[in-house]
Amino acid sequence: MPPGDLVKTLCGMEFPKDTNVIVGMDALDDAGVYRINDQLAIIQTVDFFTPIVDDPYWFGQIAAANALSDIYAMSGIPKTAMNLVAFPLNKMDISLEEDVKDWEASVNKLTEERKQKRNQNNEGLRSDIEGIDRLLETFSACINCHNCMRVCPICYCRQCHFDSDNMKFSFDDYLTRAEARGGLTIPNDTLLFHIGRMLHMSLSCVSCGMCEDACPMAIPVAQVFTLVGDRNQEAFDYIPGRSLDEPLPLKTFEEEEFLEVEQSYTGVSARQENHND
Ligand code: SF4
Ligand code: SF4
Repeated sequence: MPPGDLVKTLCGMEFPKDTNVIVGMDALDDAGVYRINDQLAIIQTVDFFTPIVDDPYWFGQIAAANALSDIYAMSGIPKTAMNLVAFPLNKMDISLEEDVKDWEASVNKLTEERKQKRNQNNEGLRSDIEGIDRLLETFSACINCHNCMRVCPICYCRQCHFDSDNMKFSFDDYLTRAEARGGLTIPNDTLLFHIGRMLHMSLSCVSCGMCEDACPMAIPVAQVFTLVGDRNQEAFDYIPGRSLDEPLPLKTFEEEEFLEVEQSYTGVSARQENHND
């Protein structure tokens, strides 16, 4: 039901008040949010779809994607889901058991296909974005609208530094910077914004693709974040959402981690010292 009709239907109804309701009926948002404690809130949403395509398999996929997107839209992580399916058994010749077996096999097949596609995509993308010049080229069409940041379900800063007054410079300031560097790209500091967001996001990126869907310039922003996210999450053996008790790796420090970085740095320093001698 569209929000306008919903308002007409529900107007005049009294809803109980509860201070733990963070997002309630008055917000007409994608889902309701109820505070469990200071760290945890539960997001609730129910969707009911009448068939929009003929194939039940694709209908289920579309309905599930649409329903789950309400949770992501509220910055949540889906943990459980309940499917309600209505079959007109007196009119349909249907074997539910067979369908469930087919469904499981189809999901496994699709998961495998997607993994392979993702690996192939990462391989192709790697050569396109590696190095600062190629990364700059990838984001060269960016108009700094920051849509990608606004739709991201994981972006967590209450006030983005790049939207704050700290990033609003006077004309003289731009001129001074342009003179010092011999030129200035406009929009300014684009790559800094994306690298800054990547630094915040890469361990938590869930590859939902929303940033890319929201990009008016068709920049493969989700693919770039997925590639960087996969590499960083693998390096720390971290899977976002695996456990609420697992701290973000950037909040912890283990003495033995990344010895290879230290070793390669030591190698570079030794080479430099030999060269200086
Ligand atoms: S793909 Fe990653 S960076 Fe992009 S919106 Fe989803 S979680 Fe955020
Ligand atoms: S949505 Fe696209 S154009 Fe807008 S800031 Fe993000 S990458 Fe740039």
